[in-house]
Amino acid sequence: MYRTHNCGALRIADVGTSVTLSGWVQKSRDKGFMMWIDLRDRYGITQLIFTEEATPKDLFEKARSLGREFVVRVEGKVIERASKNTNIPTGEVEVEVTALEVLNASKVPPFTIEEETDGGDELRMKYRYLDLRRGNVQKNIIFRSELAIETRKYLAGEDFIEVETPVLIKSTPEGARDFVVPSRMNKGQFYALPQSPQTFKQILMVAGFDKYFQIVKCFRDEDLRADRQPEFTQIDCEMSFVTQEEILNTFEGLTRHLFKQTLDVDLPTFPRMYYDDAMRLYGSDKPDLRFGMPFVELNDVAKGKGFGVFDNAELVVGICVNGLADQYSNKDIKKLTEWMQRPQIGAKGLVYVKFGEDGSIKSSVGKFYSDEDLQAWGAKFGAEKGDLLFILSGETDKTRKQLNELRLEMGSRLGLRKPEDFKPLWVIDFPLLEWDEDASRFHAMHHPFTSPKKEEIPNMLNGDHETMKNLKADAYDLVINGVEIGGGSIRIHDRELQSKNFKLLGFTPEEAEAQFGFLLGAFEYGAPPHGGIAFGFDRLCAVLNGQNSIRDFIAFPKNNQGRDMMIDAPSPIAQEQMEELGIDLALSEDPLIH
Ligand code: ASP
Repeated sequence: MYRTHNCGALRIADVGTSVTLSGWVQKSRDKGFMMWIDLRDRYGITQLIFTEEATPKDLFEKARSLGREFVVRVEGKVIERASKNTNIPTGEVEVEVTALEVLNASKVPPFTIEEETDGGDELRMKYRYLDLRRGNVQKNIIFRSELAIETRKYLAGEDFIEVETPVLIKSTPEGARDFVVPSRMNKGQFYALPQSPQTFKQILMVAGFDKYFQIVKCFRDEDLRADRQPEFTQIDCEMSFVTQEEILNTFEGLTRHLFKQTLDVDLPTFPRMYYDDAMRLYGSDKPDLRFGMPFVELNDVAKGKGFGVFDNAELVVGICVNGLADQYSNKDIKKLTEWMQRPQIGAKGLVYVKFGEDGSIKSSVGKFYSDEDLQAWGAKFGAEKGDLLFILSGETDKTRKQLNELRLEMGSRLGLRKPEDFKPLWVIDFPLLEWDEDASRFHAMHHPFTSPKKEEIPNMLNGDHETMKNLKADAYDLVINGVEIGGGSIRIHDRELQSKNFKLLGFTPEEAEAQFGFLLGAFEYGAPPHGGIAFGFDRLCAVLNGQNSIRDFIAFPKNNQGRDMMIDAPSPIAQEQMEELGIDLALSEDPLIH
């Protein structure tokens, strides 16, 4: 037998018991006459003890020969520790070893297998199996497993059916590039990996499944960031005969269940905010509501006083930071201005107004505005003595985006974005279409299957260009702490309306038929009204743990170049394989392909 207990199990009540444990050597401390080894497995750490009096000499020597990460099996007796460790659950006991078997030796690991490791990112990814032994990484992966299990429990309890949809499909346009797979049997033709199971889940509704879910891999060939991976996981759902309201309630229920089961956190009712308000008040469709600082627009009070920059701006807008006026020196503000002027943000400048504790008013635009003027600005913010206003101006969308960055930065600097604080929010009534000025065409804001709001349908069918720009959709996002956790919509289920949407998006009828004929066809055979949502599962894991990087919650993530460092993929393939797939042989002249 390898073990009677795991390495996290033994307690003071077990003293006197004979046990067998198996695990990895975390570390050893050798005092000469006495030696301790920390034995680790998934469940915890148990201290083993070897002493001159109690341990036979050869056994002691064998223990001394063990290196880090050796796999061993020991037999022994549980005894009470002389000096207890209150930091770990097994800290009151240790095992006095009577037999030791080396199950496998280990090379010296390239980094320390501890919470705080000395291994850099690339090294840890190359030796991911060692990285995954670290307690904190393991904890994340186990958390993820619990979250998936709780998701299934909740949705099964709500009568959802889990259906697997294919991975080799034809491209679904969610707005990103597809990964493609060449077909050997159909030379010159390609499958695409799904960016999401969108069309399949809609077909399942046409088929009458009524409530579908799947915890599913999706693939998008995009440039990578900390919160993006080329393959990621969604909790993907679709429901029939539902209104937006019912979908929001169902998935608010799921979210609440997950927070309760995994963190024992009771979330409040999720507030709702119109997309337009989110943009106006926070300059973002995913506002972080852990803190205030909403935008206040100043066009009516700031224009027409001879300050050209404001007079010529489409929007003058600012935030009020409480209690900062006397803390931020002009030098601090200058630094902040430079931060705002970096190309990543691209602000032209930053105007400030300081309402000092002593009643003084100081501003970078004091030349143009009287104290009364500035006081009128302050009144709009509800500013008090000690408050500091930051004001930006320019073209509306750009300025809002820049101010969003500043608001988040100030929130972080003031410690207002606490990881253990959870502020969920539904953002609703997204626009249906987004006008792309450069390409001079519309894109679907969510995806091409999203329905306009019912009252917008006549506008969509008959409206002019301006009307199209302002169409609102039954589309919604779940946002938690400024992170988009999920998004979905009520779908179009009528062939005519879907065809109209494709037309607006620039598809010819032939293109629409070639790409989505199956869906349009299905709509002609009794498609029920339906809608759904997908949660980013990796992100949900990260947000629940107050972290930014989804990579830490993925067992085998890819690096920023989209590489799996452990298996070294992607990699060239053999010429025969290429030929078999009918891939252009000209490529094989590349010296890298062998
Ligand atoms: N397929 C959509 C997405 O991946 C979600 C949905 O509309 O249900 O964002």
